[in-house]
Amino acid sequence: SLQPVRRALLSVSDKTGLIELGRALVAQGAELLSTGGSAKALRDAGLPVTEVSDHTGFPEILDGRVKTLVPHIHGGILGRRDLPAHVAQMEEHKIAPIDLVAVNLYPFEATVASGAGDEDCIENIDIGGPALIRAAAKNHPHVTILTDPAQYDSVIDALKAGGTTLEARRALAGAAYARTAAYDAAIATWFAQKRGDLLPERFTLAGQRREELRYGENPHQKAAFYTDGSTRPGVATARQIQGKALSYNNLNDTDAAFEAVAEFTDPAVVIVKHANPCGVATANSLSSAWDHALRCDPVSAFGGIVALNGTLDEETAKKIATIFTEVIVAPDATNAAKAVLAAKKNLRLLLTGELPDPTAGGVIVRSLAGGFLAQTRDNGRVEESSLKVVTKRAPTPAELRDLMFAFRVAKHVKSNAIVYAKDGATVGIGAGQMSRVDSARIAVSKSAEAARACGQSEPLTRGSVAASDAFFPFADGLETLVEAGATAVIQPGGSIRDDEVIAAADKAGIAMVFTGMRHFRH
Ligand code: 5GP
Repeated sequence: SLQPVRRALLSVSDKTGLIELGRALVAQGAELLSTGGSAKALRDAGLPVTEVSDHTGFPEILDGRVKTLVPHIHGGILGRRDLPAHVAQMEEHKIAPIDLVAVNLYPFEATVASGAGDEDCIENIDIGGPALIRAAAKNHPHVTILTDPAQYDSVIDALKAGGTTLEARRALAGAAYARTAAYDAAIATWFAQKRGDLLPERFTLAGQRREELRYGENPHQKAAFYTDGSTRPGVATARQIQGKALSYNNLNDTDAAFEAVAEFTDPAVVIVKHANPCGVATANSLSSAWDHALRCDPVSAFGGIVALNGTLDEETAKKIATIFTEVIVAPDATNAAKAVLAAKKNLRLLLTGELPDPTAGGVIVRSLAGGFLAQTRDNGRVEESSLKVVTKRAPTPAELRDLMFAFRVAKHVKSNAIVYAKDGATVGIGAGQMSRVDSARIAVSKSAEAARACGQSEPLTRGSVAASDAFFPFADGLETLVEAGATAVIQPGGSIRDDEVIAAADKAGIAMVFTGMRHFRH
């Protein structure tokens, strides 16, 4: 059932592709109906067009709030061509059938994202547009609904071949309802945020598929990457300069790496494997931060994701290029650095323009059987002034700097997380263990390996400081850090056995501070 188009209604905010669509329709002999701005654009391109207000005999009123909300338009879209009663009623009321509707909505999401005021946002809630879209999609056995300029080309081709197929119209109808659902979800979210309610009673996830991925975490899983319209600098908004398409795991790891590196103001490098940092360092240049980050765990860094918090320079690019790296993500890169990486065809380079604000709010979700969990982002940040020294010895200024650094890294390591650091660089990271003691031990054994790799006999944890993402339930965890050679420890505190843990620290003569803030990450 190829459906030719005798009459089309074009009413679009985003005028991309409008003229080409209008021209193709006119070439097929269709009459064009259109609203104010769209009609003007079509007329300016020399196409014959009838204003909706002339067609209906009713003017656009209320500053455009009511343009197409009239029976002559909605009847023309909704009337069933296969029911004699519908056809008779349309004739009786002089309602001409409309066979194709192209609408894209007032840019509500973009208006909100631009920081516009309430009145502006509300005026950008499209009313007639969603009504047209939903009506045309409902009557898809007879009507073609276009909601995105990206859909125009295939429909133009179909029109040339005699009309759209039912199958195509059904697919477009599904896309249309997805669009109006996402639009209303954005509006509902805006109202919830206005109330300061980040986790409203009804929570609608809406995303636009940006790309189908080759597969998910494993090759037998399907996957796609959806964006939610957020402008937060990161994987979703980055420009890919070179390299293969990113995989599901690449995207997940790149996000983890970039969010972590954004925590630091000094030049910083984070190397991530399997969503956990395996080396993090800050230094006076990205090049030396890279050296120190790599030293922490050069074995794991192979095939890693590298995030930098400044403009990637040639020297650093050359160093990173010497080991197999999946992805580099940074706010920017010099032309010389890009030239260095261009030789590595598979390596992906992502540039984000900016760093995300680690203290910004927002909601993150995770699905589970039967639903999903939502929580506000962990935008908590411990400052030096909020630390409480609980041991007889207070940390030295150098220890304090490393403690702050280590705790900030620990926030980005899966729990249980133990992070040893020295001179602004991690020297041992224990991640994701079911026991905190195991995380502490694993970090040390990796550190011993790293030490051997750079020709030292002692593990790099000797004389380091250590951070724990959550409190020590018993003194044994702390004792493991002491054995590893940590001279100062940072942890949230709050265990019923804090006294035992503090006593163990005092006995060992180390300094310990409590943050009062936990950074679980699972
Ligand atoms: P134009 O630029 O053609 O003047 O306006 C196009 C926009 O108007 C489209 O985004 C379309 O969704 C929207 N629109 C069409 N009819 C109505 C209506 O009756 N009320 C409102 N508020 N918007 C409409």
